[in-house]
Amino acid sequence: MTHQPRSDSQVNEERRIVRKWCPVSAAEEVAEATFWLEFVAPEIAARAAPGQFVMIGFGTGGWGTPFLPRPNSVAAVTGDRIGLLIRVYGGGSRRLAGLRRGDEALILGPLGNHFQIGTAERVLCLAGGVGLAPFLLLPGWLERETPGTVVRLLYGERRGAAVFNPDKIRAISGIAAEVWTEDGSLGRQGLVTEGASLEDMDLVLACGPTPMLKAVRKLALDAGIRCQVAVEEHMACGLGTCIGCAIGTTDPETGAEGYDLVCRDGPVFAAERLRW
Ligand SMILES: Cc1cc2nc3c(=O)[nH]c(=O)nc-3n(C[C@H](O)[C@H](O)[C@H](O)COP(=O)(O)OP(=O)(O)OC[C@H]3O[C@@H](n4cnc5c(N)ncnc54)[C@H](O)[C@@H]3O)c2cc1C
Repeated sequence: MTHQPRSDSQVNEERRIVRKWCPVSAAEEVAEATFWLEFVAPEIAARAAPGQFVMIGFGTGGWGTPFLPRPNSVAAVTGDRIGLLIRVYGGGSRRLAGLRRGDEALILGPLGNHFQIGTAERVLCLAGGVGLAPFLLLPGWLERETPGTVVRLLYGERRGAAVFNPDKIRAISGIAAEVWTEDGSLGRQGLVTEGASLEDMDLVLACGPTPMLKAVRKLALDAGIRCQVAVEEHMACGLGTCIGCAIGTTDPETGAEGYDLVCRDGPVFAAERLRW
């Protein structure tokens, strides 16, 4: 993909994907090494659904490293703005965390698929760390798509210092998150999966570190409850071109083993499809 002048935007009409320099409208540190950023991105805000993500970076216009954009879930939509919840792991996320109001980043999206609620009336959402992001967007989207769906959100972090303020979670998403921390310094002590009572639930959704997703997948499959997980893999393009985010899958109908691409076929997968 070639670098375009900043004022240009590109729209893939078929998939309605936009690649555009977007100004930061808000930037705030919200927990330990965790930042809330809002960008003016009307085309993405108009279509993003929970589970979908953007590739965000700085193009090739002399911005230095890292060269490649980084995937981040769309965590909120407010009017023409999208919100991202970003935790600092390395150079890319550190660079994003340093953005201030008025700065710009090159954003491509919305990408990937989204959670499928179907006929579920009661949905249990399990979030680990910044895997919280898609669940901030989910309640407002459900209100429009499947009004009346009841959502319970459990949110786990290792330490209390890393917890995104539950009041802000409520302000953004409209729901109260039940917080779990491994050190017990905030909310209930333990792994978020320990609070996952599947009774009366029609559907389990999860996003977070892979070990957590594997544990949730097992819990749900053992209980015979439909489950979808949003998977994180390193990826370079977000569009299915680089094949950097292949994940082993099994076709639940034929049993045939193969590979899907997290960016193109996911990031949301039916739990039984993943070869974990
Ligand atoms: C679909 C999708 C949605 C995502 N949504 C979000 C989101 O909403 N918020 C968010 O903060 N991140 C999200 N991520 C993860 C995010 O893309 C990575 O954290 C980011 O690419 C790291 O880039 P970096 O340059 O900072 O770190 P790198 O230099 O690429 O990595 C630095 C070190 O940190 C490790 N690392 C990188 N990412 C993670 C991670 N997620 N967990 C644990 N260790 C890691 C690497 O293995 C490496 O050792 C998402 C990823 C995907 C695929």
